[in-house]
Amino acid sequence: MDFRVGIGYDIHRLEEGRKLIIGGVHIPFEKGWIAHSDGDIFFHALTDALLGAVGYGDIGELFPDTDKNWENADSSIFLKESIKIVREHGYNIQNIDAVIIMEKPKLKIYKEKIIKNTAEILNIEESKIFLKGKTNEKIGEIGKGNAGASQVVVLLSKN
Ligand code: MG
Repeated sequence: MDFRVGIGYDIHRLEEGRKLIIGGVHIPFEKGWIAHSDGDIFFHALTDALLGAVGYGDIGELFPDTDKNWENADSSIFLKESIKIVREHGYNIQNIDAVIIMEKPKLKIYKEKIIKNTAEILNIEESKIFLKGKTNEKIGEIGKGNAGASQVVVLLSKN
């Protein structure tokens, strides 16, 4: 079997009165992402992991934040495009393992919804996606609640 692994990382600043979207799910919270698009750190990291696994550039090259098309864009657009590219290269997703690092809010009650939504967009089983919510132990800007980050690893196989 032919395997490919991809890694993705993203971080955005948080500000009061903005929308907090993670994995396409709107999470009610006093702060939200400062970003050109909707700022979905999980979808951005996942998009980069998928593109990286097939060696097809990165999210910034494909969807530049200087492009007005992507202003306030729903990040599922980037994800849909990246899975299309992965399948065009003949690969399928074996599994996705992800970390979301934020001091607040607790993501526990939203995890199931995020996984379900992501699985639907990618057209894969929910059991192939694993998500971990972590705090930054009050360290740095993430620890102060001024930012949130996501790390994603993806394994692809060619049949
Ligand atoms: Mg981003």
